[in-house]
Amino acid sequence: MKIICIGRNYTEHIQELNNEIPEEPVIFIKPDTALLRNNNPFFIPDFSTDVHHEVELVVKIKKPGRHIPLPFAKDYYDEVALGIDFTARDVQNRLKAKGLPWEKAKGFDHSAVISQFISLEELHNSNNQGIHNCNFSLQKNGVEVQQGNTQMMIHNVDEIIAHVSQYFSLRIGDYIFTGTPAGVGSVAPGDELCGILANKEMFRFHVR
Ligand code: MG
Repeated sequence: MKIICIGRNYTEHIQELNNEIPEEPVIFIKPDTALLRNNNPFFIPDFSTDVHHEVELVVKIKKPGRHIPLPFAKDYYDEVALGIDFTARDVQNRLKAKGLPWEKAKGFDHSAVISQFISLEELHNSNNQGIHNCNFSLQKNGVEVQQGNTQMMIHNVDEIIAHVSQYFSLRIGDYIFTGTPAGVGSVAPGDELCGILANKEMFRFHVR
């Protein structure tokens, strides 16, 4: 199982970090040791003083594929979740300044929070819009800090799958984090994070 992540997929988030809008999806990978599930607490790692939350829609791959043509991409998933791509922003900024890969800032232990999954059918029923037009948000200590709609993605889920599968064979059970909307920010010990997808609470856990 691998965790494929898309960076810079929402324009307002790109602007808040002063990055350039990419011509094609920005891809990075987290190892399976990055997974954090079941509302378990997140422990801020010793090497960072600026870990940011990035709430993202997560898609689970349901059949193997490579070089998937865009019209068939929708056949490769039928469940979605909400996740957090925890990012050690201070570490990432140091690496970016040197032109180095982001792995230490992105792929560290428990940096990939994933909620339980719901079917596309349940998603559709809950907001009557479906995966290409669904709202999601993140609350920190009861206050909404990030809010997005998948319509605002630069590259939608199907385009991501078509693109990613040109480089990485997809396997059953792989996860794809699809990018974060604006509003990223630091977390501190004691914070409670709650993720909502189409009016449904998907996760609630504490930062330690
Ligand atoms: Mg992200």
